[in-house]
Amino acid sequence: MKCKLCEREIIEKEFCLFHRYAYDKIKKGYVIWVEALDINWKDYLNEIEKNSLTGRWAKEVIKFIKE
Ligand SMILES: [Zn+2]
Repeated sequence: MKCKLCEREIIEKEFCLFHRYAYDKIKKGYVIWVEALDINWKDYLNEIEKNSLTGRWAKEVIKFIKE
């Protein structure tokens, strides 16, 4: 099975190692944001997508989650 976002083999669920790692980071980041800003999941994704510090892997994952 191939990752939903690239040609690598799936490690866990629908993602390869890199996209899975990025996904975990996005989820962990959300827990922190919710406590600080009372933001919802969709707004959070929009915010980090706009952030220039967000890496390429994470941006691909965000695009996938939002669809
Ligand atoms: Zn991948």
